[in-house]
Amino acid sequence: MSGRAEERRAAASVLVIGTGAAGLRAAIELAERGVQVLCVGKRRRDDAHTVLASGGINAALGTMDPEDSWEQHAADTLREGYWLSDPVSVELLCREAPGAIEDLVRWGARLERESDGRLTQRFFGAHRWRRTCFAGDYTGREIQGILVRRATEVGVEVRDDLYVTRLLVRDGRIFGAYGFDVDDGSRWLVVADAIVLAAGGHTRIWRRSSSRRDENTGDAMRLAAEAGCRLRDMELVQFHPTGMVFPEESAGTLVTEAVRGEGGILRNATGERFMERYDPARLELSARDRVALANYTEIAEGRGTEHGGVLLDVSHLDRDLILRRLPRMYRQFVDIAMLDITTTPMEVAPTAHYSMGGVLVDPETHATDVEGLFAVGECATGVHGANRLGGNSLAECLVFGRVVGGEAAKWSASLDVHVRDRAAIDEARGEIDELLARRGDEFARPLQRALRDLMSERCGVVRSEDGLRDALAGLYELEARALALEVRPDIAGYADLAHAFDLHGSLLAARATVECALERRETRGAHNRVDYPEQDPALRVNLTWATDGRIEREPIAAPSAAVAALAGGPEIEVSGRMLE
Ligand SMILES: Cc1cc2nc3c(=O)[nH]c(=O)nc-3n(C[C@H](O)[C@H](O)[C@H](O)COP(=O)(O)OP(=O)(O)OC[C@H]3O[C@@H](n4cnc5c(N)ncnc54)[C@H](O)[C@@H]3O)c2cc1C
Repeated sequence: MSGRAEERRAAASVLVIGTGAAGLRAAIELAERGVQVLCVGKRRRDDAHTVLASGGINAALGTMDPEDSWEQHAADTLREGYWLSDPVSVELLCREAPGAIEDLVRWGARLERESDGRLTQRFFGAHRWRRTCFAGDYTGREIQGILVRRATEVGVEVRDDLYVTRLLVRDGRIFGAYGFDVDDGSRWLVVADAIVLAAGGHTRIWRRSSSRRDENTGDAMRLAAEAGCRLRDMELVQFHPTGMVFPEESAGTLVTEAVRGEGGILRNATGERFMERYDPARLELSARDRVALANYTEIAEGRGTEHGGVLLDVSHLDRDLILRRLPRMYRQFVDIAMLDITTTPMEVAPTAHYSMGGVLVDPETHATDVEGLFAVGECATGVHGANRLGGNSLAECLVFGRVVGGEAAKWSASLDVHVRDRAAIDEARGEIDELLARRGDEFARPLQRALRDLMSERCGVVRSEDGLRDALAGLYELEARALALEVRPDIAGYADLAHAFDLHGSLLAARATVECALERRETRGAHNRVDYPEQDPALRVNLTWATDGRIEREPIAAPSAAVAALAGGPEIEVSGRMLE
């Protein structure tokens, strides 16, 4: 398998990178406007990360609670984000979310309904009213299926297994992307007027992650940053309190908060119900960040299980109730761990779940620092601040997917000439050539593993100045080792080359995360600094990061008066509400 593989060429008015909810929604908007669009993903379109979303999608429809309004939705989002969200983005999201649900319903989504036909909405996390629509606990799968079908109906060209390795830029303006086919290694040069980047987050850089293997490896952050974009708030990553710890290859797989909602009890290895010490009033129904911190502390202080978790027990509940209310969890543990949760406690630990930070975008258009390049979905930042309100991510993908489709269409129509740059294309070709030709003694998988261990130990649920400095030193070492990476595609395909680029993405995303985490010397939302346990009002700012390590503080605009007034209301009781 040597020598340069065949290079295929394609041209599109707009190239969309990512076939999850955000990318497909953008592509549908473009096709509906008559714009020629190519949408590519490194894995199969019907299996994008979005299919994992279970609990629901938010929109202030008021079907169950007529008092609800988009302004209250915006207020809840800002408050849950610890005031680091961009108010313009948040207000746009909440105003437009009902329209996104209407689109889904028009295209045939089977969302849960009441007997009189109203869409059912449930409580989810820190929402004042019931505003989360759902399709059983398969909401993401249903939405993904509908978007794939709609994209086909409106003629979107979708290509699976195309790994984008580089964005092509000339004089600060995008003109295409370069990549390879993961199956046969053929190269792809795609020229385009505009690009929508919708390639997901970076939560797989931790050892325990609710993402599957090889997804959310920080590709979007690397592609954007190397093209000249700034990243923002990369330190802000949500850790879910309960992910599986065993077996190792499934570590991090989400254990839904409904388990605790139904009466699950947390114990440490000594059998102690430790939540009595952390939140005696609410116990296991305490807020997500407090339970995550409690689980983390028990494990870190040596009261964890053999596999490094704590025990989550439902065996005291009626077996039929478990099978009826938690069927997915029952099946998950039988299939993955060969364990019957009706009789045996689950081992769980915090798991990296959602990237609040990402590519810096304009709050209204989602344009990036590079002309003609837009970013959307989990890879973009702006909406969620320091903690994401459960159910807002799917809404964001759909609302801003549509917005960004419209903006990319406008950009494409406004161009007089399409410039290219042969040197930039040669560099992209050369990058792959060099990786394939290199002979070294390092391999991507072990380096990824070392990176994930480092991030979990030094930049995980709880952080400190010393730990973060160690993390940075460790990252430099891993970056140096990655220079000796050997890549060996084989008869089964080019997965090894994909792993090498995954590793590059993860290393860059990790460096941005650690450097920003060092700079945020406070505890706010999902960011816990043991050495700075309080919020610092001076740090009510966003942190922008560039590849040279420069970090700048950016002030945050004030929300509209109506939203600000609602956000100041009484605390919201979250006991027993799911927060996926
Ligand atoms: C277990 C779980 C439960 C969740 N539950 C909810 C919920 O109930 N409600 C909610 O709102 N959110 C939920 N979320 C979050 C939500 O699912 C995600 O944030 C959202 O689906 C992200 O969609 P996306 O389109 O931005 O990215 P993704 O769905 O991650 O898609 C990324 C796309 O980019 C492609 N890609 C990546 N890198 C490359 C590359 N180099 N070249 C080419 N293509 C590339 C991938 O193949 C994929 O097609 C949950 C998440 C998890 C893990």
